[in-house]
Amino acid sequence: MKSAPFAYARAHSVEEACAMLESDEDAKIVAGGQSLVPMMNLRLAYPSRLVDVSAIPGLSGIESGSDGTLRIGALVTHAQVEHSSTVAEVAPGLQEAVQHIAHPQIRSRGTIGGSLCHADAAAEWPVLLLAYGGSVTVQDRSATRVILADDLFQGVFATALRPTELLTRVDLPAGRRLAFREIERRMGDYGLALVAATCDDIEGPLQNVRIAVGGAVGVTVRASAAEAAVEGKRGDPAVASEAAEAAVRELRIIGDANGSLAYRRHIVHGLVEQVVLTLGAAQ
Ligand SMILES: Cc1cc2nc3c(=O)[nH]c(=O)nc-3n(C[C@H](O)[C@H](O)[C@H](O)COP(=O)(O)OP(=O)(O)OC[C@H]3O[C@@H](n4cnc5c(N)ncnc54)[C@H](O)[C@@H]3O)c2cc1C
Repeated sequence: MKSAPFAYARAHSVEEACAMLESDEDAKIVAGGQSLVPMMNLRLAYPSRLVDVSAIPGLSGIESGSDGTLRIGALVTHAQVEHSSTVAEVAPGLQEAVQHIAHPQIRSRGTIGGSLCHADAAAEWPVLLLAYGGSVTVQDRSATRVILADDLFQGVFATALRPTELLTRVDLPAGRRLAFREIERRMGDYGLALVAATCDDIEGPLQNVRIAVGGAVGVTVRASAAEAAVEGKRGDPAVASEAAEAAVRELRIIGDANGSLAYRRHIVHGLVEQVVLTLGAAQ
């Protein structure tokens, strides 16, 4: 299928992009185009105008701040994260998780900002951001604000961004230990279920545990009862099993043509167990 007709404009600065969004309420940002363009071709989206932000300078860097926070520009591609030495140093395990996103061709065009704004519950970045407890910086013509990961995902394909705002940066805190597991039919497919968990990267009982679940739920979400079951404990098999039971009880898991409700519950249970054991193994 082909998309409905649309106008196209390339923005050269964040301010110019925001002005374009303000002047046309049906305009949409395009970054890598790896989600928006398929949606347009399927006539699930029909923006009047695409505002191409891919040439805006200053949004493509990966750096670690003075406190170690990993700062990733909105236009950084999945592939750039995958191959970044800074990411390898500050966020061990993150690059392995990112390799679950689609295929190399898509990873070389798709951006972290685009993935988070698209907010597909089966995508990897929303689960990772939520598990890290990171934040995003967004900007419109008059103001800049920070949205915490906990407040970003508000519904099915819906975020807290206003239509005139551009996501400019993603921050992930340093000093976190990550465990990530996903079940997909084939490598590169969207996950039938995916779970990421982090805790403070210190010796001893697991502290400040965060567990995020995607794929088997309509909206990427934290499993807070599972987190409570693990907090301050060792990640041993008994604790992992308790957390998995809690997650399945508390989450609104959904089944569909790709996996029944019973199957999805089963794999969420298994994945939560595995991430807790993985966090625990590094104690
Ligand atoms: C065959 C295929 C398989 C895929 N498999 C996976 C997968 O397994 N896992 C996965 O996570 N993803 C997958 N994707 C999606 C891919 O990762 C996309 O790159 C990503 O979801 C969107 O990034 P993008 O830069 O292409 O965004 P775009 O498609 O350009 O934009 C997506 C949405 O975000 C908005 N947007 C983009 N950038 C910004 C910004 N800076 N500020 C505000 N709004 C913005 C756009 O307006 C649009 O609504 C797949 C895509 C394809 C085509």
